Amino acid sequence: MSYPMILLDGRPVTLRDAERRRGGQAEVRSVAEDPGIVVKLYDDLQKHALEQEQRVRVMRNLQPLGGRLIRPGQPPELAWPVGIATDLDGTFIGYSMRKFGKPDHTQMVALLEPAGRRRLFADRMTWGSLLTIASSAAGVVEQLHEEGILVGDLSSRNIVVSVAEGYLTFLDCDSFAFTDPRSGTYYPSRWHTDDYAAPERTRGDGLEATVASDDFALAVLIYQLLTGGDHPFAGQPQGQENWTPGDNIKDGNSHVVHPDRFVVPGAATKPDDLVLPADRMDPAVLPKRALLFARQAFGPGLQDPARRPTARQWRAALEEAQDYIKVCTSDPDHEYAEHLAGCPWCGPVIESKPVAPPTVISPATPARPVVRAEPEVLAPAAAPWVPADSVPQPAPAYQPPVTPAPMPQQPAAYGATPPPAPYGSTPPPVPYGSTPPPVPYGSTPPPPPYGSTPPPAPYGGTPPRRAASPTSTTTIIWIIVVLAFLIGLAIWLAPLH
Ligand SMILES: [Zn+2]
Repeated sequence: MSYPMILLDGRPVTLRDAERRRGGQAEVRSVAEDPGIVVKLYDDLQKHALEQEQRVRVMRNLQPLGGRLIRPGQPPELAWPVGIATDLDGTFIGYSMRKFGKPDHTQMVALLEPAGRRRLFADRMTWGSLLTIASSAAGVVEQLHEEGILVGDLSSRNIVVSVAEGYLTFLDCDSFAFTDPRSGTYYPSRWHTDDYAAPERTRGDGLEATVASDDFALAVLIYQLLTGGDHPFAGQPQGQENWTPGDNIKDGNSHVVHPDRFVVPGAATKPDDLVLPADRMDPAVLPKRALLFARQAFGPGLQDPARRPTARQWRAALEEAQDYIKVCTSDPDHEYAEHLAGCPWCGPVIESKPVAPPTVISPATPARPVVRAEPEVLAPAAAPWVPADSVPQPAPAYQPPVTPAPMPQQPAAYGATPPPAPYGSTPPPVPYGSTPPPVPYGSTPPPPPYGSTPPPAPYGGTPPRRAASPTSTTTIIWIIVVLAFLIGLAIWLAPLH
């Protein structure tokens, strides 16, 4: 399909070079008149033309992540539609968005291989940087979920990273699932990438995206970043060339959870023996809480969506881990989690105080080869990765109306905290029978209403004690003196009888 000239919001523009996107079903073209934007054109809309046009037009009026902190110079975290593209007859054909392409941006997938990291980032992408990027990705997903939006097709190809600072931006936002706050129409997400798809999405006809399916894809992505590129479902039956991590997801075979089901390269004895990738990193390289979450997501959470750690839990765990990073004594570009006894990029992964279940595949597992060492990765120096709370808060541009969650929500996981109240909202009324919130230290309690009686002492509690006044103390002393005098008098008089 060729459109040398189209209309963008009614304004004629000229299109230039093309880049195929998402299975070849759309193409992205640059715009001669505005190098800062690109246009995404759908190949064949026929059946879904109206729905897709409505979806993009609604999206254009929304501003998700409006309240999220953006650092100075940081590109938007979503490649959101900014204009409607039509042909010269006015027929909808796609939309425009800000450009997030080469050479300023690269797909996140390039961070998942040492060669890509070295080529794009030289020595600036350390393990700590990957941890920061993982945390940012979790933060974006967390915020989208709080706004009732699903990513749907979350993968390392649908996120780009800025080469200069390591900031990330989610692409293909037209596959997000959301509800139009005005009409109440729900726009589902039917797209997924097999290697990131929770099993329920690839079974049978496949389910639409849910919060829990996003959480699964996020867990895979985070695991990849924290191991320098390992897929948690990597490994293939001996002799099978076209086996993918997606196949292992369907079979429930994760080497992170079931190392006993895998053999190291060269050790396979049967044709269907699952063989690990030769350069697999020990999962114990993950910070402890992250490893627990990974095992939960890829173990019990694989078939039970409610048991997957949420984006919020991931973000909190990864933020915490950022405070516990060690630097290698041999190479200052090597960083690793504090629980490890030594640098995992220079030698084997050994925990300083192992408390987690053993993660080694077998005693025959070779130590990580030094060639794959992560040295090629970026220092946080170039990135203004300042703590979010030290950045001025931009005014929320648009507060999407709070709509009832339209998509299947997973129940809150054990230990999860409720989301914070939206900006500008009022606290909910105290439910009947609940206890009032504690009075802040230093504040004075409000006076009881006229005619009210003081509340009864709580069961088992002691009533408040009144401080003795000087007057009552004096009276008590006098009574004691008089009593003592009378007793003494009685004792003195007793022998006289
Ligand atoms: Zn090292």
